[in-house]
Amino acid sequence: MDNKEIFNRIFPTACRYMRVDPIKVDMEFNDKAFTTFETLIDNVRFKGQHEYVSVEDLLNVDKELTSKSEDLTFYLEGCSEAVIFATTLGVNVDAYSKKLQANDMSTAVIYDALASALLEFYTDEYEDGLNLGAHTFRFAPGYGDIPIELNYIIIDAFSISKKIGIYKASNNMMLPQKSMITFCGMGKEVAPTCTHCVRLKNCSLRKENLRCYNS
Ligand code: SF4
Repeated sequence: MDNKEIFNRIFPTACRYMRVDPIKVDMEFNDKAFTTFETLIDNVRFKGQHEYVSVEDLLNVDKELTSKSEDLTFYLEGCSEAVIFATTLGVNVDAYSKKLQANDMSTAVIYDALASALLEFYTDEYEDGLNLGAHTFRFAPGYGDIPIELNYIIIDAFSISKKIGIYKASNNMMLPQKSMITFCGMGKEVAPTCTHCVRLKNCSLRKENLRCYNS
């Protein structure tokens, strides 16, 4: 897949992050986004790690935290095992982002949204390469009522810093910033939906007819 094809795949998601309608953007914005994307691609050093674990082991990484989440129980119920993914675009992406933030804020916003969408895209490709069979969609700490603190617990429990260089930072952030910890349950198909989300009644995205997932 060449750069243009990847860009066309991720652009609608990046627009969603910027809260703009991809259908309504003009050619000038599209060209600027593609030029920004080509710089981003040059900076990316994608790394991924995955671990197959029993659902019990996943929930036991920190029982106090995981027991607070109804979503974890809901999505993983009936799954035979789970897969944990750790993925990152690498430190060069952050370094360039900082430069842009100091000199060109509008490009920095586009760059950041494209980087988030690209990380999702590469993680999807990484997951597809595993041929998992029936599995739930991939979800992350911070989704629904899943405690975001689980990121840190999982980084330690699976030696993610040592293996692919994702580190804990302050405020539940990770370094590199464009890094993700996600997991899915194996053995049943579950697509993302708002129906079970704890934020359903007051979700700001839904008020703008947007979703936090690709539908
Ligand atoms: S878009 Fe749907 S799933 Fe996402 S946070 Fe809002 S209510 Fe929840």
